[in-house]
Amino acid sequence: MKFVTSLLAAAALSVASFAMPAFAQDKGVVGISMPTKTSTRWISDGETMEKLFKEAGYAPDLQFADDDIPNQLAQIENMVTKGAKVLIIGAIDGTTLSDILAKAHDAGVKVIAYDRLIRDSGNVDYYATFDNFQVGVLQATSLVEGLKKNFAGVKPWNVELFGGSPDDNNAFFFYDGAMSVLKPLVDSGDIVIKSGQQGMDQVGTLRWDGAVAQARMENLLSSTYTDAQVNGVLSPYDGLSIGILSALKGVGYGSGDLKMPIVTGQDAELPSVKSILADEQYSTVFKDTRELAKVAVTMTDAILGGKEPEVNDTKTYDNGVKVVPSYLLKPVAVDKTNAKDILVGAGYYTEDQINN
Ligand code: BGC
Repeated sequence: MKFVTSLLAAAALSVASFAMPAFAQDKGVVGISMPTKTSTRWISDGETMEKLFKEAGYAPDLQFADDDIPNQLAQIENMVTKGAKVLIIGAIDGTTLSDILAKAHDAGVKVIAYDRLIRDSGNVDYYATFDNFQVGVLQATSLVEGLKKNFAGVKPWNVELFGGSPDDNNAFFFYDGAMSVLKPLVDSGDIVIKSGQQGMDQVGTLRWDGAVAQARMENLLSSTYTDAQVNGVLSPYDGLSIGILSALKGVGYGSGDLKMPIVTGQDAELPSVKSILADEQYSTVFKDTRELAKVAVTMTDAILGGKEPEVNDTKTYDNGVKVVPSYLLKPVAVDKTNAKDILVGAGYYTEDQINN
């Protein structure tokens, strides 16, 4: 009997210690709504936040919306029903969330726009992102530097422009940042946009879809470059760059006397980093998603602890209803000369991942 009792006591003890982690998550539910899994950055953002929240004693509810707006709305609604105290949202379409956010606000839920600004809603409390205008500046600066380096004898340079998804506020910041560098060169005649296609309404790429970018590049090549060569392509995201490079390779660029144009990118995704080291893509922009995840978690912890989260920008991000207090991280330009130093140095990738 004594033996059985002590066994039971031991069992109770082990159940208690097993139950500890659940007890440790009593700081409440935090909803994390990420737009898609098609780009590894969002997976990394989501999973880093999930891990940090668990470590801090929260119960994170991480969902990916497969780039489907009704799906994202349903997932957020579900988070509110589950009693989430804070919602961290990387929106698919930054203008579609007003109703659900009004509902969340009525339930006392605080909202952090993650990476992408949520527009047309007064119920967005904070914004955690990178300096998006600067991303565009870095892309265009690297494009011009590449043109000078690889196409020194060619002037004017033929350049084509690609923009991100027109339903993503960031896409306009990237484009405007890039044009702040390129426009003076277009005006001086150093750069020619041979297709004449400019402005987000003409160069935007819905849902950041690489296949759409590839098709547009193929069209540009057959409509505009049958007896001229394209020297540079402004691409705002690695997933688009892959499609663009594929169109270029399809008509022989990168071999014989058709030199590969300078193609930019963003996110330092592994296939693109490899492409840069193989002299195909010229550059990318590294945004350390682990740091952004940390900002969102720290903001949440401050909000729920009754404190004011730290912000460093209170002027830039007007969402149409209010200027959303923001914390901006710095993006970093990466090309073949510094890719390993920066990405392996930051522990973002191992040397092995990059080389194999
Ligand atoms: C993000 C970029 C990303 C793009 C496509 C943007 O909102 O800021 O980092 O490349 O979405 O996923």
